[in-house]
Amino acid sequence: MTSKENKKAGNWHSLDKEEAVSALDTDPKKGLTSEEASKRLEKYGPNKLPEQKKRGPVMRLIMQFHDVLIYILIVAAVMTALMGHWIDTWVILAVVLINAVIGFVQEGKAEQALENLKKMLSLEAKVIRDGKEKTVEAEELVPGDVVLLESGDKIPADLRFTETNDFQVEESALTGESEPVTKTADPVSEDAVVADQASMGFNSTMATYGRAAGVVVETGGDTEIGKINQMMSEVEELTTPLLRQIKSFGKKLSVAILLMVVVMFAVGYIFHDFEIMELFLALIGLAVASIPEGLPAIVTITLALGVQTMASRNAIIRKLPSVETLGAVTVICSDKTGTLTKNEMTAKTIYVDGGFYQVEGSGYKPEGAIKKEGEEDALEEEEIKKNKLLGRLLQTSWLCNEATTEEKDGEWTVNGDPTDGALLTLAKKSGISTEDFEHLDSIPFESDHKYMATLHQNGDERMIFVKGAPERILEMSSAVWTSDGETSFNQEEMQSLTDDIAAKGERVIALAAKKVDDSVTEISREELEDNILLLGFVGIIDPPRPEAVEAVKKCKEAGIRVKMITGDHAITARAIGEQLGICEGKEAITGQDMEETSDEELVDMVTDYDVYARTTPEHKLRIVKALQKRDHVVAMTGDGVNDAPALKRSSVGVAMGIKGTEVTREAAEMVLADDNFASIARAVEEGRAIYDNLKKAILFLLPTNGAQALLIITAILLGITLPVTPVQILWVNMVTAVTLALALPFEPAEAGIMKRKPRHPDAPIIDLYFVWRLLFVSVIVGGLTLGTFYYLYLNGAENELARTAAINVLVLGQLFYLLSCRSLHNFAFGSGFFNNKALFPAIGVLAVLQLGFVYAPFMNTWFSTDSVNGIYWLWALAAGVLTFILVELEKFVFRSKAG
Ligand code: ADP
Ligand code: MG
Repeated sequence: MTSKENKKAGNWHSLDKEEAVSALDTDPKKGLTSEEASKRLEKYGPNKLPEQKKRGPVMRLIMQFHDVLIYILIVAAVMTALMGHWIDTWVILAVVLINAVIGFVQEGKAEQALENLKKMLSLEAKVIRDGKEKTVEAEELVPGDVVLLESGDKIPADLRFTETNDFQVEESALTGESEPVTKTADPVSEDAVVADQASMGFNSTMATYGRAAGVVVETGGDTEIGKINQMMSEVEELTTPLLRQIKSFGKKLSVAILLMVVVMFAVGYIFHDFEIMELFLALIGLAVASIPEGLPAIVTITLALGVQTMASRNAIIRKLPSVETLGAVTVICSDKTGTLTKNEMTAKTIYVDGGFYQVEGSGYKPEGAIKKEGEEDALEEEEIKKNKLLGRLLQTSWLCNEATTEEKDGEWTVNGDPTDGALLTLAKKSGISTEDFEHLDSIPFESDHKYMATLHQNGDERMIFVKGAPERILEMSSAVWTSDGETSFNQEEMQSLTDDIAAKGERVIALAAKKVDDSVTEISREELEDNILLLGFVGIIDPPRPEAVEAVKKCKEAGIRVKMITGDHAITARAIGEQLGICEGKEAITGQDMEETSDEELVDMVTDYDVYARTTPEHKLRIVKALQKRDHVVAMTGDGVNDAPALKRSSVGVAMGIKGTEVTREAAEMVLADDNFASIARAVEEGRAIYDNLKKAILFLLPTNGAQALLIITAILLGITLPVTPVQILWVNMVTAVTLALALPFEPAEAGIMKRKPRHPDAPIIDLYFVWRLLFVSVIVGGLTLGTFYYLYLNGAENELARTAAINVLVLGQLFYLLSCRSLHNFAFGSGFFNNKALFPAIGVLAVLQLGFVYAPFMNTWFSTDSVNGIYWLWALAAGVLTFILVELEKFVFRSKAG
């Protein structure tokens, strides 16, 4: 029977789980065989939601023409054609076409880049196949697959639960209801609606608590979500606040340009005796010259290149606008474990039965001596076995544990929680065995509770093992287990003992155990309260990542505060914070302290504290809010389900790609492929570079358009011969747009980019300084061009010669201005002069085009140019160098004024 027929025959949610399992011809313990799975995959197809219809290439090409600026150009082309000035028509059309092609190609690349990012974030699912746990791509799931779920997972297909353990799911993707619902393996009534089908898990909903197992009943388009498939399109629009700002600027600019054209027409017609045709053409030239039609394409390329660079450096952008926000980040709140530290935990200290032990070795390799404090010789296996309490502690380490370690190519790695890995490795080092224990039940570790527990049977002894944060375990313990039996203990003494271990920067785990009756088959949290026996403590080191130490330093230079937020003990946290250079002698604040402060007080306190210890995810949210009250732009990392609200609230939510849950990933703006703090710092740097490049592109384009416009405006205002003909101005506009302007997005980050303070997030990109620069450069380049023309003209040169010489000045002026634009504030010939790989090819192409313009006979005819001799090139070169010097001087003056 196929799953489809079943659906008709009976509803999955109302079937008994056994019925569902047998209808799907699978086995809840062993799963499908790989063979069967691939057969079914062939039959049912991949577990993919039908793709949203994407814009086809034709539509994408057509959309390139949908722009006010382009409309103006097209009108201009039609008018010149009507007037019979075909060369003008062709050149304008060429500008329009080239522009569209560049836009089309670049947009395609940008979409591809985003598509690739999406692939990097593909969903995986944990299944049982061939009787073994395996991780497979969610796309490969088939009906009958047995899927294992835990809190934080995204449910990858429609499932019928076979087992649930306190399992809750948030189904807002499907039902709109954001309160999590509790799931069960029991059937529900046949007429239950989707929202009430507690025995079912639905594709794209999120597990928020507990664990479960279920069999896949429907995949891909046949799932509930697939059927409604009104899912928000996952392909993001290529737009950001800045892009919108620029687009709206473009609209305003076109209106201004049209107004200017009308005014110029009136001036030229009323006050001067221009021929109407000539005036018309000049004004079309003016419109085309002043329109920065390449700007949208450049912005798109810059963003696309940026996200690609970030992805290659392990920062995967999920929401495009955050590319800009990243550059404005003022505070990074980071998890400690695994992000700032290596997450290679190694147990170093043991305290049990009143005595300390030291453990040697590093990482997860199960080799290393255990020595009693003060003794030279390692403990023999026999001695460990004889030491009952040490043995119990090691058993607890091994059994109250969810990790496994394995050796691959000589390297030992951990699967699961590294803290667990460290304790497992410790137990393995001792040579004890736990083979005789049968696992009955467990409560997994959650940051909120800070402990985990397991129930085991060994012969006729039934035991609960518990491990967790010391203060939590001390609270739960009624006595300590020593060689004298159950002994009462002094809370404070024990606490100060753990503080001593923590002060070494070690994370302390307390271990406890308890014998129970055979009647106990499940562990309940109530049963553990004040009712277990403390065995002792283990101190675990987790050294800081060396690259994180570097990155923290870099962030500080860049005016970015780094705050470390951890569930660890304050003393441990502070010791690590010192090593990382985060707290520098300042105290840590704990979650408990935060409980006692109001939100208002916290706003005052957040700037004073950089280390937050013993926090829960709610504290993260409060920290973000407090920082935002102080106008900070906050990046916040997270991995667990409960971190999602804090990530959503922050400006740049950063999820962990390796240890993070799907829920946090969905809430995040950026996913770290390597979970490494250094990658955040690099992404911020790249974010700043992208913003810089956008600024540079605008700073370059507007004045070049300005200079071109100025030429024509001046001539019309004064009623004198045009220094360049309309068709010539179109040429200049076209060649610079396809060469010089396209080089700027490839500009790598400037050397001092992480030495500046963060940019103000609300500062407009086109500010007063831009307006000044626009006028300044327009006047220099436009003035030099005008001057060249009139000097030659008045000295009796032919129009063709004077104009060609003037155009060379205009082009070289723009070229040299581009060199200057490569650095916003610093001297252009800095260390990175040769590191833009697009710049020199662009200059080369420009040179070829311009030489053709001057020397090719057909160009001479079409564009009325003259094959000028070398002296005029020198002249143009001198003008270019002069432009360069003046702009560099301007930068210098502003730089020293800014201090
Ligand atoms: P972090 O953000 O530093 O990883 P956690 O919330 O994971 O913080 O851990 C908080 C505390 O809970 C730790 O200091 C430790 O004492 C304890 N702990 C951490 N992991 C485990 C675990 N797997 N089992 C038991 N206790 C743990
Ligand atoms: Mg942890």
